[in-house]
Amino acid sequence: MSGLDDLPLRDELRGQAPYGAPQLDVPVRLNTNENPHPPPPELVAEIAARAVGTAIGLNRYPDREALALRADLAEYLGTGLGADQVWAANGSNEILQQLLQAFGGPGRTALGFEPSYSMHPIISRGTGTDWVAGRRDERDFTLSIDAAVAAVAEARPNLVFLCSPNNPTGTALDPAVVSTVYDEAQRERATMVVVDEAYAEFSHRPSLLPLLTGRPRLVVTRTMSKAFALAGARIGYLAAGPAVVDAVRLVRLPYHLSAMTQAVASAALAHAAALLGTVESVKAERDRLVAELRGLGLEAVDSDANFVLFGRFADQRETWQALLDRGVLVRDVGLPGWLRVTAGLPAEVDSFLAAMKEVIG
Ligand code: PMP
Repeated sequence: MSGLDDLPLRDELRGQAPYGAPQLDVPVRLNTNENPHPPPPELVAEIAARAVGTAIGLNRYPDREALALRADLAEYLGTGLGADQVWAANGSNEILQQLLQAFGGPGRTALGFEPSYSMHPIISRGTGTDWVAGRRDERDFTLSIDAAVAAVAEARPNLVFLCSPNNPTGTALDPAVVSTVYDEAQRERATMVVVDEAYAEFSHRPSLLPLLTGRPRLVVTRTMSKAFALAGARIGYLAAGPAVVDAVRLVRLPYHLSAMTQAVASAALAHAAALLGTVESVKAERDRLVAELRGLGLEAVDSDANFVLFGRFADQRETWQALLDRGVLVRDVGLPGWLRVTAGLPAEVDSFLAAMKEVIG
């Protein structure tokens, strides 16, 4: 049998592992930061109705520019942005990939601040972009202006990734970090600054979207996979200046966003209030997780997202396995000593906490 080594794989992909959060069929799945609340019945009915209407026209390609959806997304963001400042794709992962295809590539570098979202380096490498790993504070995972600016000055990258709230730490950024990094990143060459706001709706802090004004090389990426409870539909989007949208249109595949996806996304946006109604209860479970984990004598990082990073364990892989043996799947993000748990339904959080109590004895 021939394996990967027998294929003329690109050198930089040799020895790499694919993104691989385990998808296991266990009673309590708290490992991929999904919203635990299924879409409400009225949205399910509307999606079904729109799917029928869309199916009638499936012999035709979808709107390549997804204009109706982009107008709906711009209205949802509500910060005076027009449809020409919004772009949509199959999850914010595809948005990130399009940004790297347009602004990264061979001979170019992207900088991020780890621990952060594992797909930033993976998509960078996949597009031939060199990855430079900056660091967050060792103790509390914050990112100071000084540390961020120093890393940008040293790396002089073509793209900077900032993640707020940050996955897997839950830490949100002060707007001053973003604006100062942006300024530094324009000093010697024009650099794109991408703020990944996948978890913005769960944050105590306001969105960083207002920073877009007057910053043509700033991009904010968002998703409907988390607060909107639509991970299965694969819808992500960005907000930026119209020129950024023109840039990603150069690399997107024609008709990348299916007619069904566009219909589902617009239906969901028509029910935004009901969908986002679950956010408060998710936040309450998140805050309960932090408090209860600390009550158990563990460390839990303050979180602005729908998950909590907790530890510290001598070997987090052992704790991960012990929780799994009790039917609870959390995430080992490969950060020594730490695990990440998603805020689930109250009963799921109860099960997790009960299992955790048993595990630490
Ligand atoms: N950004 C961050 C920080 C994430 O955690 C995730 C999902 N885990 C994504 C982007 C991608 O989400 P999606 O492709 O479902 O929009």
